Amino acid sequence: MWFNFFYMVKWKLGLLFVFIIILFETNAQNYPQNYFRYPLDSLPNLVSPFGGLRDNHFHSGMDLRTNQQEGLPVFASADGYISRIKIQSIGYGKAIYIDHPNGYTTVYGHLQKYSGKIAEWIHNYQYNNQTFEFDYIFEKPILLVKKGDTIGLSGNSGGSSGPHVHFEIRNTKSEKIINPTLFGIIPFDTINPTIKKVFIYKFVSDGLLLKKEFKIDHSQMIKLNENEFIYKTPIELDADIYGFGIETYDYIHNLDEEKGIYEYSLKHKGKLVFKHTLNQFAFNESKYINAHIDFPFYKTEKIRIQKCFIDDGNEFSTYETNKEKGRIYLPEKSIDTLKFEVIDNNKNSFVLYLPIKVLNKKTDIQKVNYLKSLKGEKAFYPLTKNTIKTKDFSFELEEKSIYDTVYYKFDILPKPLNAFSKTYKIFNPTAPIHKAADISIKPTRVNSDLESKLLLAYYFTDGKNYRSAGGNFENGLVIGKANNFGHYFVTIDTIAPTIKQIFLNTEEAINDSLHYYFEIKDNFSGIGKYEGFLNNEWILLDFDAKSNLLTYHFDEVWKKQVIDNKDSKLNNTAIKKPEVLIRVTDKKGNVAEKSFEMPITF
Ligand SMILES: [Zn+2]
Repeated sequence: MWFNFFYMVKWKLGLLFVFIIILFETNAQNYPQNYFRYPLDSLPNLVSPFGGLRDNHFHSGMDLRTNQQEGLPVFASADGYISRIKIQSIGYGKAIYIDHPNGYTTVYGHLQKYSGKIAEWIHNYQYNNQTFEFDYIFEKPILLVKKGDTIGLSGNSGGSSGPHVHFEIRNTKSEKIINPTLFGIIPFDTINPTIKKVFIYKFVSDGLLLKKEFKIDHSQMIKLNENEFIYKTPIELDADIYGFGIETYDYIHNLDEEKGIYEYSLKHKGKLVFKHTLNQFAFNESKYINAHIDFPFYKTEKIRIQKCFIDDGNEFSTYETNKEKGRIYLPEKSIDTLKFEVIDNNKNSFVLYLPIKVLNKKTDIQKVNYLKSLKGEKAFYPLTKNTIKTKDFSFELEEKSIYDTVYYKFDILPKPLNAFSKTYKIFNPTAPIHKAADISIKPTRVNSDLESKLLLAYYFTDGKNYRSAGGNFENGLVIGKANNFGHYFVTIDTIAPTIKQIFLNTEEAINDSLHYYFEIKDNFSGIGKYEGFLNNEWILLDFDAKSNLLTYHFDEVWKKQVIDNKDSKLNNTAIKKPEVLIRVTDKKGNVAEKSFEMPITF
């Protein structure tokens, strides 16, 4: 009997556990606490938090402060194995991904160097495959790490603007990036965020009509308590459909102000209108930043207003809204209060109550004029496919490639000097594109040996200031991708990159810290491939795209050459000076090659 009793209890407990596990799995808030350690030998200290507002993306990790230094040891955040190594001359530079048994992956970017067996594995991989840059995914655990193992040294590699470590926590399966503060990695911060301005948007049927900037006059703000304020005089609005936006900043200990906030919300009559919470997001969602903010305003004013309403083409998964996607209909003669609340990662908050007084509905002269001005304008719509086609030109946007209706000007302009086509203008200076458009232009006749050198160029307003849009010649057309609404034409790149030796290190001692440096630059299409050979043997060159610098760290190939030379010296045979050959190819196949005779350093 007692056996059965315990069996029953155990069974019921088992059920309870299953229930708890289901609860845990469905509740996104339950992340393991104190499982991941801070990957540097200090308390959490950031130069930039998770979710910061950046050009074309939300910051996908935390930037850990390394006090403007490189070379600090970076530790594995928890036990696991190296699941991916990615090395790029841009982006995260030298990066490591570690998979942990609890279903999460940690990522460490902009490293200067890798450590121990990881460094060895990478060096072998690079020599075996004759490449500096690669992206390798480990199918099974080969390189195991323990929590606190040194995996590398902090650096400034890739597209980094100063020494720091970029740290991420992802869901291994979904690859969604999760806010590390949810795991308890929280820097000290007791400072409340703030709302600097509220913006009011008044809508017409398929776009916005008016944008009124409402600057919060701090002398008009009455303090209710430490972090709650109310605006003294009600804002007068006409009865109509409105949306709102805020300019908000977070202040972190040691950091002036950060554009970005953990959460912000708008309530009307106590009901939720809009809420945005940055717990997690997927990589392919990051570009929704351009729909999340008032992009045209950012383009002209360089200020990021975060909107409290959602455009039709904005599918960012962080929102919770009313049925009208954050828009509010304000009825005539009502008196209401809007409540804006912003909350940072440490739950410091700021609340602003904004009383509004709604007047009668009136015929809006501006609205009428605006609708008139749109007659005859060409428009792309967010939920459909959009195409422009002429005899020699095509431009195609898949559905959901834009966020909102885009009014644009289309024109065919004369062929620019030295170009190989007319200029096709599909222009709107302030509209973002989410998924690049397919674009093709038929070029004028060129010699067949030059066809592979053709590519697309684009500019916004200044025709002299044009840039490469890439693309290739295929079946009589130059085909590429358009990431902007601009002016496009076909041009040619026949100019090879330049190569120059740079002397950064004059030390003549023979040791591992010695390097050769070369500066490589391309005039238009960009660097495609780079290779180096020491006395005809392939050598590994680090490439840093932001400084245009190739670096050869003296390694075993160099040592072998030195020993070879030492032997010849002993045998009194001729000493061959070390010769380095650098070969650089641009994206249009123009090759530059240069040999450098190096001084003998022994
Ligand atoms: Zn970062």
